[in-house]
Amino acid sequence: STPAAIASALAAGARRGLLIKGGAALETLGHVKTVGFDKTGTLTVGRPRVTDVVALAGTEDEVLAKAAAVESGSSHPLAQAILAAAAERRLDVPRAYGAVELSGKAVRARLRDGFVSVGSPRFADDEGLLDEVARQRIAVLEGQGKTVVAVTEGGQLAGLIALRDTLREDAADGIARLRALGVQAIMLTGDNARAARAVAAELGLDVQAELLPEAKLAAIRGLKEKGPVAMVGDGINDAPALSAASVGVAIGGGTDVALETAEAAILKDRVTGVAELVRLSRATLINIR
Ligand code: ADP
Ligand code: MG
Repeated sequence: STPAAIASALAAGARRGLLIKGGAALETLGHVKTVGFDKTGTLTVGRPRVTDVVALAGTEDEVLAKAAAVESGSSHPLAQAILAAAAERRLDVPRAYGAVELSGKAVRARLRDGFVSVGSPRFADDEGLLDEVARQRIAVLEGQGKTVVAVTEGGQLAGLIALRDTLREDAADGIARLRALGVQAIMLTGDNARAARAVAAELGLDVQAELLPEAKLAAIRGLKEKGPVAMVGDGINDAPALSAASVGVAIGGGTDVALETAEAAILKDRVTGVAELVRLSRATLINIR
């Protein structure tokens, strides 16, 4: 009977580390036309590392120490990387007060000698803090697939920090399998367009970059006009996107938030798990009819 077919599909999924929260989610997965992927922590392993520190005022170590101070309360993967780099260099990280995180943009706090912010260079540019030399440095680093953050202090650009993350081993395969099922895969990211395009080209999927959290939601709504959309994310800043999709899929060990918001979860960090979810659902839908 129908409930038995669903129960057995959910159990089959669970045995493979694919968690599906009920029959409705299972059915939606089978009808999905588009899968949106977050980048950091989803298509990449989510452990970016600092590759370059460029000091434009003061020393490299000062730039890194100040950035680490501001990031010390943030759970963003970039924050973790900056803290790790400061620890590796055994820097004295000053104390920061009143840190405020602007999701998808930056984090700001007060240090002893003034306000410091760390975030997307686009916002430093909007505030008129980038000169031609800085823009050139950023373009070169981003062209190498790196994410660059600008460190500003008291309304001046203090430096740049570049970071790079590793692709998940099965990411390209996971995208190819979706394509074989006739499902469009698209990366939706807040990261810069140059780095995002480099990653998307390597994996063979479409991309929309430089999306602020609200724009990410609008992009998902737009994709939904073509049919059901699954959104895959690791949950750091992704909870709204996961719930805006027809079905949210958590991946990457996931945060508790992601697991609560998502209707499905891939417990073993495999991007190929998304295509498996679609196939499992389609097979079950056939059995029900
Ligand atoms: P993604 O789509 O890759 O998960 P996010 O939306 O989380 O990216 O962040 C987009 C961009 O906003 C980052 O690439 C970075 O430039 C900036 N940003 C967001 N949070 C932080 C932070 N805590 N520290 C520095 N930069 C940040
Ligand atoms: Mg994210």
